[in-house]
Amino acid sequence: MKCRVCRGPAVIDVRRHNANFCAEHFVKLCRDQVAKAISEFNMLQPDDRVLIAVSGGKDSLALCDILDHLGYRVEGFYISLGIGEYSKESRGYVERFASQRDLPLIIDDLPIDYGFDIPHGSRAAKRAPCSACGLSKRHLFDEAARKGGYDVVATGHNLDDEAAVLMGNTLHWHTEYLGRQAPVLPAHDGFPKKVKPLVRLTERDTAAYCLLRNIDYMVEECPMAAGNRHLFYKSALNDIEVSSPGAKHSFYFGFLQRAAQHFADAAGQEMPAIRACSQCGAPCSSETCAFCRLVDRATAPVPIRMKPSRSSTKVKT
Ligand code: SF4
Ligand SMILES: [Zn+2]
Ligand SMILES: [Zn+2]
Repeated sequence: MKCRVCRGPAVIDVRRHNANFCAEHFVKLCRDQVAKAISEFNMLQPDDRVLIAVSGGKDSLALCDILDHLGYRVEGFYISLGIGEYSKESRGYVERFASQRDLPLIIDDLPIDYGFDIPHGSRAAKRAPCSACGLSKRHLFDEAARKGGYDVVATGHNLDDEAAVLMGNTLHWHTEYLGRQAPVLPAHDGFPKKVKPLVRLTERDTAAYCLLRNIDYMVEECPMAAGNRHLFYKSALNDIEVSSPGAKHSFYFGFLQRAAQHFADAAGQEMPAIRACSQCGAPCSSETCAFCRLVDRATAPVPIRMKPSRSSTKVKT
């Protein structure tokens, strides 16, 4: 197995490119793919201050390493979600990575700052854990970017993530989401610009990149992910990819090039008027933003069920 570029011994095969690469040229391939995505979708300007949402996993840490290498001004933002050992360990990975590389790091802590954690708060608020978590992350990323004056928020979503979301939105014909499924969301109404520079890389690519760059990342998945339907879509797409290498790439990028524009109207029609949240000031479409409503419900005192007292039981006469 020889590297396509230098003909030296290869360490990895990339079937969708029908090629093998040595360590040096695989690392270069990953960086080139990110640079290509940034340029193709006009994601970043050279002077942008970029806030990267870091989780301690391979994607977000690879993203920090690659954007830093490409010369962007990057800072990390981590949210401690209060998901037991998972949160404690993932925070450790992020803090070690940041201190080794002098990466400025902002940390928000849901239990300390807002009084709830995802497992208990989502139950109290009667939401699925990933729904409460996603809402919290979006709100806190936006808020951190607004308060810190960052130009753009970058997340580590990769090709597998985006293809799985596309599959879900297509299977259920969520046309309004299809209209917004681009790797760049422009800034609007007080919301920051958001970009996904890893869309040309797969999970396998980012794992291999971390290995070759000696990036120590959290391998364990979040325990709350079990049952998440995106995992089923990812698994289905992986099965398709085995017999049809490149299928994920052509599914996602074919959609962006040939179909996304047909759903732009559906996305636009769903955009409500924006105002400031009466509690936190964040831009939102109602009196109180969804995050403040979640905090209220997640931290509401739980009523204690009282057993009926003897004196209140009916006595037959
Ligand atoms: S799996 Fe769900 S709960 Fe866990 S980090 Fe992801 S979105 Fe949050
Ligand atoms: Zn090589
Ligand atoms: Zn609010």
